[in-house]
Amino acid sequence: MGKLLIVGSIAFDEIETPFGKTGKILGGAATFIGLAASQFRIESGIVSVVGEDLPKEYLDLLAERDIDISGVDIVKGGKTFYWKGRYHNDLNSRDTLITELNTLGEFNPIVPNHFKDADVVMLGNLHPNIQLSVMDQMDKRPKLTILDTMNFWMNNTWDELMKVIERIDVITINDEEARQLTEEYSLVKAAAKIQEMGPKYVVIKKGEHGALLFHKEHIFFAPALPLEEVFDPTGAGDTFAGGLAGYLTEARNVSFESLKNGIIQGSNLASFCVEKFGTERMLNLEKSEVNHRLIQFKDLVQFNIELT
Ligand code: AMP
Repeated sequence: MGKLLIVGSIAFDEIETPFGKTGKILGGAATFIGLAASQFRIESGIVSVVGEDLPKEYLDLLAERDIDISGVDIVKGGKTFYWKGRYHNDLNSRDTLITELNTLGEFNPIVPNHFKDADVVMLGNLHPNIQLSVMDQMDKRPKLTILDTMNFWMNNTWDELMKVIERIDVITINDEEARQLTEEYSLVKAAAKIQEMGPKYVVIKKGEHGALLFHKEHIFFAPALPLEEVFDPTGAGDTFAGGLAGYLTEARNVSFESLKNGIIQGSNLASFCVEKFGTERMLNLEKSEVNHRLIQFKDLVQFNIELT
């Protein structure tokens, strides 16, 4: 079975959308990535840090889905990372109201020995030095390293981020971040510039407008499924990345064709994530539902046109 190592936050999230608000609930990039990846026949493990205040049930929810949590450091007397966000009416944009790093501020990731030979490494959105440390601890170069990052790290830790980007195979970022990274407005030009920086594959996420995959002269588009109801977009990007990483770990094959399927799997899983607050939908997701929606994806983009 393919092995996937995930590094990222496990968090208390507090969310406000036009449809309601939550108290402190389970969140974090590694949580969403892990739950999405658990839909595939793989071995997965999370490297993260939490405080003693995180209810044991939260970590149990991950362990019950066969996600290895031996790399999750529980800091005695420490507090778990806390993030609060409020979505605007269109749900496309949000304001971060509170970010308390707590134990994540001094996070020194330790990769468990049995994950040092992982086939795929998914570097969730974190300080680039944490991502570099995880890469340095691997026994050998993984078959595939996927990076998720954001504008905050471009603004504050440019040099460190460049060191990460040089060493990875796939980057997932949103359209504005791709423009910021390259100073190119055209996403085609931006993707070409990013490939010159290191990654062979560039995935540009466009929220409810889907995602683009770039590799050399090839381009592929995965739509987002038009949904009747979007409730809470939190974690959609991480779920997308987790679906991509989980699929590629199971497929054991890295090519433009397998990445095409990977971003469809990611879009498909993200379409479930947004249907309920936080992790609720991902915690109650059956394989049959996932497969059924994959067929809807196929129908959405398949057409037969006769060239005359
Ligand atoms: P997404 O909606 O996919 O962008 O990811 C939302 C998740 O990212 C939430 O569950 C947050 O806990 C987590 N998050 C937000 N800010 C940070 C940060 N600075 N570092 C790590 N994780 C974060």
